Amino acid sequence: MAITDTGRPGPVRDGALTALAADLQGPLLRPRDDGYDAARQVWNGNVDRRPAAIARCRDATDVQRAVRFARDEGLLLSVRGGGHSAPGYGTNDGGLVVDLSLLEEITVDAGARTAQVGGGVLWRELDERTQQAGLATTGGTVSSTGVAGLTLGGGLGWLMGTHGLSVDNLLSAEVVTADGELRTVDAENEPDLFWALRGGGGNFGVVPSLRFRLHPVPEVLGGMVVHPLDRAGEVLRFYRDFCPTLPDEAEAYCALLTDPQAGVPVIAMLLGYNGPLDEGERVLRPAREFGPPLADLVAPMPYVARQSMLDQPNGVHGLHRYWRSAFTEQLDDGLIDAVVAAAADFSSPLSGILFFHVHGAAARVPAGDTAFAARRVQWDVDVIAQWTEAGESGRHTDWLRSHWAAAEPHMEGSGYVNHLATDDPPEKVRASFGTNLDRLRLLKARYDPGNLFRLNPNITPVAPQPRGSSA
Ligand SMILES: Cc1cc2nc3c(=O)[nH]c(=O)nc-3n(C[C@H](O)[C@H](O)[C@H](O)COP(=O)(O)OP(=O)(O)OC[C@H]3O[C@@H](n4cnc5c(N)ncnc54)[C@H](O)[C@@H]3O)c2cc1C
Repeated sequence: MAITDTGRPGPVRDGALTALAADLQGPLLRPRDDGYDAARQVWNGNVDRRPAAIARCRDATDVQRAVRFARDEGLLLSVRGGGHSAPGYGTNDGGLVVDLSLLEEITVDAGARTAQVGGGVLWRELDERTQQAGLATTGGTVSSTGVAGLTLGGGLGWLMGTHGLSVDNLLSAEVVTADGELRTVDAENEPDLFWALRGGGGNFGVVPSLRFRLHPVPEVLGGMVVHPLDRAGEVLRFYRDFCPTLPDEAEAYCALLTDPQAGVPVIAMLLGYNGPLDEGERVLRPAREFGPPLADLVAPMPYVARQSMLDQPNGVHGLHRYWRSAFTEQLDDGLIDAVVAAAADFSSPLSGILFFHVHGAAARVPAGDTAFAARRVQWDVDVIAQWTEAGESGRHTDWLRSHWAAAEPHMEGSGYVNHLATDDPPEKVRASFGTNLDRLRLLKARYDPGNLFRLNPNITPVAPQPRGSSA
């Protein structure tokens, strides 16, 4: 009997699971097995689900077997890489989890400047390996995030102004589609599917490995300048005028957060420069001199140090979380007032509000070149509630919802696919795929007509209209 989306579990045939376990090279963890409880946990401690089984795939053949099994048994299917999906798409109740954490192989070809990367690799692992050769590719800003999950939705990071998004550096991918076939796709082979993977966010299959283009990335400039919250309005107005002046090599993000030492809310501009250090010093100087700040922590550092600058507390697995986000092309005064009021009212010292500035090479790629349509100079605005006690969830989600209601009208009705929440309305999910939605829906019908891969910001399949019929 099938497991349904409504959460009404039918029994998975135990004999069928035993047969799957015998077929797999990697372990199949069931509720009675040691390690099951640890394996079912994800980054968001507020997500507490009990899958019928977790398939720890050892290779692409294991992935094929697990995908076919889920399809044939009518099981709800989750794909788990780094486990960082805020809505918890990497797990489910009563279904099957395809867990890729054992696919951790990384091969760097320093001469060709490429890296072949397993589907379960984390950014920390990839950055450490590529940096041994003085290379890197655009990756996320918290080092425990999964490479594949982040890339398939787009991939925003410190290098995006110079080298584009993670998807812009993806050269090829292996993918197991809903029919259980393993395909290797790139610009020449099944280019439509390769296009859809670059922004389609997990809708098109399981990716056991990816190949990236790498770039020379020597020591970088990075760090933050911190101001008291009572100057947050001024800082944000400076920040919105400063961002458009930046060359591709510079990144400027902004965060409202609680100073862990002083225990009071502050605002920080998070700065980075990918290029000659003296040039970076010159470009970033206005932001460092503005104020003056309470603290200026910007300094030359290894790239891997900048890649983990935001790990605490954001990378910590198991904290309780609730996250909303949207894109905006303007930081208007209403939005600034709303986020400053939210920070003054933080219900938890672990919560934060983040502005990621998307610009440069990431914004110049034509919207139709990859499935990632949001190619504009803009901010990705994230309001993230984080807390430790399960019993306090109501208070912290209320904090976020009430302040989000004030901020949301000042932003667009679309967001970054990887940051969408399960309670974002379907029209926002559709708007987030933008002008690429229709092509994505046709490709979804071709590669996943039964919507097996639906635990994600979902693209619903639509069959092509016969010629001559009215749509
Ligand atoms: C603390 C934190 C910081 C973040 N920072 C950034 C950032 O700087 N830039 C940015 O762009 N995003 C960022 N994100 C968002 C992040 O890109 C998404 O949450 C992404 O889905 C995480 O991937 P994962 O593998 O870690 O998560 P998982 O929960 O394991 O996977 C999430 C989903 O991604 C898909 N997926 C994962 N791996 C595969 C695979 N191998 N094959 C097919 N589908 C797969 C599946 O649909 C899966 O359900 C951040 C998230 C968190 C929690």
